[in-house]
Amino acid sequence: MTTAHDGARPDGGERRPDEEPLLRVENLQKYYESDNGFLDRLLGSRQYVKAVDGVSFEIYEGETLGLVGESGCGKSTVGRTLLQLVEPTGGTVYYRGRDITDLPDDELRDLRTEMQIVFQNPQSSLNPRLTINDIIGEALDVHGLAQGTTRDERIKELLERVGLSASHANRYPNEFSGGQLQRIGIARALAVEPDFVVCDEPVSALDVSVQAQILNLLDDLQDDLGLSYLFIAHDLSVVEHVSDRVAVMYLGEMAEIATPQELFTPPQHPYTEALLSAIPEPDPGWEADRIILEGSVPSPISPPSGCKFHTRCPRVIQPDAFELEQTEWRAVLDLVEEIAAGAVSVETAEALVAAGDAPDLPTAVRADHDVPETLSDPEAEAALASAVEAAVSAAPDPPETDVRETFASPCTTDDPTLREIDGGRAACHLFDPAHPDASPAVAPRQVVDGSSGPDGSRAESDD
Ligand code: ADP
Repeated sequence: MTTAHDGARPDGGERRPDEEPLLRVENLQKYYESDNGFLDRLLGSRQYVKAVDGVSFEIYEGETLGLVGESGCGKSTVGRTLLQLVEPTGGTVYYRGRDITDLPDDELRDLRTEMQIVFQNPQSSLNPRLTINDIIGEALDVHGLAQGTTRDERIKELLERVGLSASHANRYPNEFSGGQLQRIGIARALAVEPDFVVCDEPVSALDVSVQAQILNLLDDLQDDLGLSYLFIAHDLSVVEHVSDRVAVMYLGEMAEIATPQELFTPPQHPYTEALLSAIPEPDPGWEADRIILEGSVPSPISPPSGCKFHTRCPRVIQPDAFELEQTEWRAVLDLVEEIAAGAVSVETAEALVAAGDAPDLPTAVRADHDVPETLSDPEAEAALASAVEAAVSAAPDPPETDVRETFASPCTTDDPTLREIDGGRAACHLFDPAHPDASPAVAPRQVVDGSSGPDGSRAESDD
């Protein structure tokens, strides 16, 4: 799991421009039918959880691609869907150049000897009623890989390969610690001699002291067996240390893909920037401001329009017509979304007025949303003032224009595509040449040798 720049191999050699990746994922989608209420089902209205909504990436031979993002953003679904453990809704997965998305059962079974998975929770992923011998042997039996003494030898060899001993073969899962169980889970995955392994949060359920041992084991196995990994984690500090490249996901989509060095010097996508700033800082030289992401992750059943991150992004582009200060604009946009959704609480505003904290309802609504009493941009002020007035009015006049339209920006209307940027790829309108005035707030990437690496050190922020 050595670190490599984009275009370079994990072993440090240059990657040929025409090198076919081991795995290529194109526009992968997985929608689950939502478990909605009885009435909805009766009326035939179906809702879908857009767990994975069109992701594309590739993994090269011998490489570790880290996949990171907040809980529920679709990481596990990507891992399971690309292995065809879960049927994709759309998109294509190529393994060694071959489309594996629509294989007949027998070919899919053969593919399982090449692609495996290690689960997060070894306790629940190993059958408690089987001995370790049976758990590992089952994988060999299903594929007819070894019988009799050869089978016993192979199980012994696998246990030793993952740091256990042959004497463990006749014990049951409840006799092992969490770290030992994860070693058994790894041995089971390796039994069929795969080339590619999805490691789905393999250390998240383990004590910190044991995590490093399992990461080292995975690293050694990769070196010895030439494995390629998709390494899933919600914690950027784990992914940073083990990945050759890192893919950052948000609400079913890819936000950014880059090498760890590129990702941190400085992060380009505002979401990566926020994730990174949440890591407890090991390097006293790191001076970037901590970004607290407001609100929770929106529902994948009805994700926000435009860029899905726009409801929480601290760097949303504002409409060309306005010139608001960024925090002012962020607060205005939140209020606009509430007004448009008819969700402004008049009761809260009335309570503020009754308590003497605001002279009137519109002022109370603004105060409740951290919006200044008067905006710095007169045009924006006029539009917002009439929208707030209508929102708190008992009998509002029909609005002349849709408030969402007045305050629309590329971030609220257009889904950004993952585009090549200096040293990586990012899906963000800040990097779209179609919006030249929306120049990124961070300095362009400067990849400095040794500026960041598996030891966790980082370059100083330019901020
Ligand atoms: P992550 O691994 O990033 O935590 P998941 O891939 O587990 O995210 O889940 C992504 C979204 O899909 C979540 O909203 C989750 O609730 C939903 N989801 C996952 N599996 C199912 C399922 N079998 N049925 C319905 N929804 C699911």
